[in-house]
Formats: sequence, structure tokens, C-alpha cells
Amino acid sequence: MIKTIAAVGLPVDEVLEIKRNRILPETPMDSMKRISIVTGIHGDELEGQYVCFELQRRIEQNKECLTGIVDIYPAMNPLGIDSITRGIPAFDLDMNRLFPGDIDGSMLEYVVARIMEDVAGSDCVLDIHASNIYLTEIPQIRINELHQDILVPMAEAANVDFIWIHGASTVLESTFAYSLNHIGTPVLVVEMGVGMRITRTYGDQMVDGIFHLMKKMGIWNGEVKSVRKPIISRKPEDVCYLNASVGGVFIPNVEHGTKLKKDEIIGQIVDPLCGKVLDEVRTPEDGMLFTIRDYPVVVEGSLMGRLLKKEVCGYE
Ligand SMILES: [Zn+2]
Repeated sequence: MIKTIAAVGLPVDEVLEIKRNRILPETPMDSMKRISIVTGIHGDELEGQYVCFELQRRIEQNKECLTGIVDIYPAMNPLGIDSITRGIPAFDLDMNRLFPGDIDGSMLEYVVARIMEDVAGSDCVLDIHASNIYLTEIPQIRINELHQDILVPMAEAANVDFIWIHGASTVLESTFAYSLNHIGTPVLVVEMGVGMRITRTYGDQMVDGIFHLMKKMGIWNGEVKSVRKPIISRKPEDVCYLNASVGGVFIPNVEHGTKLKKDEIIGQIVDPLCGKVLDEVRTPEDGMLFTIRDYPVVVEGSLMGRLLKKEVCGYE
């Protein structure tokens, strides 16, 4: 059941429309749980598009197992998706800094307020992001510590490799996730893959996780796969940030998700004009590389990767 949850006229004869597809059981019951799959707040992050498609395809195959409501919002920033733009084109605004919005406010404040109204009350929301065009991420859920008691058990059921709990001081209050968590609608922020691409294996992993979560919530009574046990990071010092010491072209040496020893080479920063290696990016200690630079051109200070320290990962 497709519904337009917000529509505003644009200056020249076009309409900005945000759409939701609601999937209901064949025989709806009185009190059903609701899971909402939200993506496309950043128009250049497309990993969630596959998740929306594949989740619906698999529900349709065993529709009789559906016992709750699944709401799919594939394009919260449709103008951004259509024009390969991260923010809202023409306005030059990051949509994820406009929440909770204002129903009587400007056009965009109205749109985000309508999104808030529509998603609020869900029993669980997944807000699927895909890093950006510069960095690739292993499937992870990011949570702020204010809401960890409610969100960590849900995140553990979602088949991600990593749960990253942030301190309250780093929380951005104007995000979709914060605004909904603040009013009691639980939102898990998923980061996986890379901007402008679809990584099918990650999408499949996430869809398995969503079915597992749905089963736990009483929305699905079919077979589900068992889920990965995620590593949980609770302290800022669990993570090392690797930055470029020099500008150049980055040639990676390892895959992200790899467990590395101290001083291993993650990649080289090279000078294509002179054919020289300018620097090697090395691991400062043992750990798992959960983020790696994807976009090759770097400047001094560019983020090249993030390493989760070995003692947090708990591997031998
Ligand atoms: Zn994003």
C-alpha cells in the first residue's frame, strides 16, 4: 500500500514527494508491531535501496509468515537520490541536520516534520546509511549512549559485525535518529558499504538481520537465519583513527574487516607524476580495520581508516 507522506510543490511545475510502502499481513490483526525501514536521507548513499527491494521480495515469497507491519521508506531525500547529491539539491542542506522540523515552518521543515509524524510510534526503525563516497564501512550500528539500554539489545539481533556506542557529547540533536529516539521511537542507525554503490553481500546480511529482528518482535513467524555476534565498542579509546601524513593517491593493501598486527601496511600513498611512494599507512597497534579509505585521492589529514583495538574485538 503506497502512500505519499509529504508532498510540496517545487518552483517550476515539479513536486517533491516522500513515499512509504506499507506491507500488511494477509489477515491483519488488531494490535500489530511495526518495523520501519528508512533510507536515502543522504542522496549519495544507496546501499539501503537494495535492502528495501530484497526485503520486500523475500516477504512476498512467504507472505503467510508476516504477522505485523513493515513500512518501507526508500527515498527520504528523493531529489538528492535522483541528482546524485548528498544533501538536498538547490538548498545545499544536509537533510539529517533538519530534524525534528516544524509542521508550520518552511518547506523543508514541513517535510521533515511530516516524516517524523509518520515514522513515530514504530516499534523499531532502521535508518540505513552507506558512509560516504570516501570511506567503506563493515556493517555496523551506531548508537548514542543516552539510548543504549533500549537500542543495544535490538542492535544485537540485527546481524551486524559491530556496534559502536558514542558518548552523549558527540550526539547531533538535529538528526532523524536522535529526534525519534528522544520521543521514544527506537531508531538504529546502520552504516555499511560505501557511497554511490551497492554491496550486495552487505545488503543480504542486513536483510537476514531484519528478518531475525522481525521474528524477535513478533512480526515474522517464518524461518530465519542465526545472526552474527557483534563486537561492541563503548569507549572512545577503543578506536584508532588513521590519517594521511601527506597528499597523494592511496593504493590500498588490505580489505576492510581484516584483523591486522601492529605496523602492518594498510596501503601506500603514491605520487603518480614521479612514480614514488610518499608514505605507507600502517596500523598503530593490533586490531580490526572496520573502515578503510575508498576514494583514492587524499590530502594531508584525510581519514584513511579506523581500527578497533584487538582487546575490544576479543580475537586471538
Ligand atoms: Zn548518511
